[in-house]
Amino acid sequence: MAGFNTRLVHQPRQNDNQTGAVAVPVYKATTFAYPKIGAQVKYDYSRSGNPTRNAVEEQLACLEGGDRAFVFASGMAAIHAALAIFAAGDHIVIGDQIYGGTFRIVYQYFKDRGLEFTAVDTRDLAAVEKAIQPNTKAIYFEPVTNPLLQVTPVSGIAQLAHEHGILAITDISPYLLRPLEYGADLVVHSATKYLAGHSDVSAGAVIAKGEELADRVYFVQNAIGGILSPEDSNELARGIKTLSLRLDRQMENVQAIIGFLKKQAGIAEIYYPGDPDLAGYDDLRKEAKGAGGVFSCELDNDIYDPVVFVNSLNLFSLAVSLGAVESLVELPSKMSHAELSEDEQLAAGIKPGLIRFAVGIEDAADLIADIDQALAEAKR
Ligand SMILES: *Cc1c(COP(=O)(O)O)cnc(C)c1O
Repeated sequence: MAGFNTRLVHQPRQNDNQTGAVAVPVYKATTFAYPKIGAQVKYDYSRSGNPTRNAVEEQLACLEGGDRAFVFASGMAAIHAALAIFAAGDHIVIGDQIYGGTFRIVYQYFKDRGLEFTAVDTRDLAAVEKAIQPNTKAIYFEPVTNPLLQVTPVSGIAQLAHEHGILAITDISPYLLRPLEYGADLVVHSATKYLAGHSDVSAGAVIAKGEELADRVYFVQNAIGGILSPEDSNELARGIKTLSLRLDRQMENVQAIIGFLKKQAGIAEIYYPGDPDLAGYDDLRKEAKGAGGVFSCELDNDIYDPVVFVNSLNLFSLAVSLGAVESLVELPSKMSHAELSEDEQLAAGIKPGLIRFAVGIEDAADLIADIDQALAEAKR
């Protein structure tokens, strides 16, 4: 098989009526004519299959080493599809640091419809095994969590899942780590983040290993209909082609910024498992090429005012989300995790001074200068 960067750019060829177009056309048609009654056709109705959507789905299956991929209108629609393959009475072990929207759909939607869940710290394999019940059908986790960037190797969980005859499902972006290669059965992505990469497309993906599992996900995609539009499929396909270029720059920038922060007084903690000096590195390195463009740090609350710090940044937009070309910053205690009470925040490791950076592809020197001036502003 061709290398990952070649696969990013050369998606499986689509038959475009032999025009030779080197980019897949955007097929907006919602319905496709049958030549005659009884004819076998590849496409008949766009919810069930669309050539532009299928092109990016084949591209993702190829990148992940999966059998089939399915794209949706958002990451949450993809997560819904991955969990909707289960039935009332099924039990799923979930990571205790998963994305907030995933917690919401788990406890305020699927639980009401009869699925059962137990949340555990998936870094602790014994705890995961203890949570497995006779009706457990899957372990769902994020190999690298947010905003504390805790690392759970995929292979340990996948092995445990398979010993118990259940599925391993992960939520993470490809390139740095491809969970199917380490035994996961289903991968979900918020393609809104790194894959699309420009803060202008909402999308999600599920990639499946094995036809039986793929058929179950396809049933949900076609039956529920939360498909990605042809236009957004096209933009997603375009974003994917530069995934590794963007991520390599983002990771270089993160390392440069962390190098600067390590020399500053009043930075209580830095969370980035891509750095050999920081927690999670050894576990990450077993399976992943790097830790991506997101890192967090904790400002010492006695020395810096975290609110003044984030308000004083100029190049970093104050915004949730991550994985795009422009740098973003957020204050989890007041933004992504504001729904939690102060006690719940502290239990989840979210202190008032925790800052999460999603680093873009700008010049590292400019990003560092911006952080430097914001730290000066924020000094108490
Ligand atoms: C953003 C995100 C999601 C949700 O994706 P949307 O595209 O916003 O619906 C799910 N999981 C993780 C880890 C995310 O970062």
